[in-house]
Amino acid sequence: MANIIDGNKISQVIRNEIKEETERFKIDTGIVPGLAVMLVGDDPASKIYVKRKENACREVGFYSREYKLPAETDEKTVLSMIDELNRDPEIHGILVQLPLPGHIHSAHIIEAIDPAKDVDGFHPVNIGRLLTGRPCHMACTPKGIMELLDRSGIPIEGKEAVIVGRSNIVGKPLFLMLLARNATVTVCHTKTKDLAEVTRRADILVAAAGKAEMIRGEMVREGAVVIDVGINRLDDGRLVGDVAFSEASPRSSFITPVPGGVGPMTIAMLLRNTLDAARRSRKDP
Ligand code: NAD
Repeated sequence: MANIIDGNKISQVIRNEIKEETERFKIDTGIVPGLAVMLVGDDPASKIYVKRKENACREVGFYSREYKLPAETDEKTVLSMIDELNRDPEIHGILVQLPLPGHIHSAHIIEAIDPAKDVDGFHPVNIGRLLTGRPCHMACTPKGIMELLDRSGIPIEGKEAVIVGRSNIVGKPLFLMLLARNATVTVCHTKTKDLAEVTRRADILVAAAGKAEMIRGEMVREGAVVIDVGINRLDDGRLVGDVAFSEASPRSSFITPVPGGVGPMTIAMLLRNTLDAARRSRKDP
């Protein structure tokens, strides 16, 4: 039977560490790490995420500022606000909650954020630095997955890692992070032929497709580590991952549950990136 990787517990440990580091940082420098969160429109899920991020900031002693803009706000207005935040010394991290309303190009918004304040790690400069192994802000969800693996004592070097999903926010950056740690990484997607044949090769299998319980037990190699990124709401209201947990867990050595696995790590990594941004801001004139 698998060891359950408890994302709630691990993320709480990290949040406590960040809280302590923040207290020390404030005493040493007089700087309060500041995060600006921008929400355009009133997508109910986004509202919940923004609230959680705000609470998490308060809990660790950050300064947080929230901007709630109506759905019809034009791109130019959002861009000029980002420009102001880029120059605001109280703000070290800027997060624009995605998805944005259809008339706003998320690429324009992401590229307008100063890469040093891009605590989501989505700016092409940060992605490029990740690709070339240079210090950067890394996307929070894949970074959280790496933390879960490390803090669970799971070796990565030389392992076969298979990621199902190639999004810019999860699959692709995770590919780079696992590769940098010397895993042999395969990325699968909707056009992958014989998905089960590939997933069965995985020592570390990451499901990030957004398809409820699509990873069945027989797709998991005996003894594999299974990381489930998916968050899917079923018609009956239940929240499930991309992995059929009851089928996969008897075959795996470690597995993350949904909820309570990868999810809580994302906010913990956002806090980590914001504190890092505040630290690095001192090195710039
Ligand atoms: P996305 O829709 O942008 O990308 C999904 C990817 O999965 C695509 O690359 C697609 O090719 C692939 N895919 C879809 N169906 C497939 C199939 N049947 N076979 C093989 N590949 C398939 O999704 P995303 O934004 O990366 O999110 C993925 C899931 O992770 C969603 O459920 C999302 O809610 C969840 N998520 C969770 C967190 C978290 O904090 N826990 C963060 C981000 C995303």
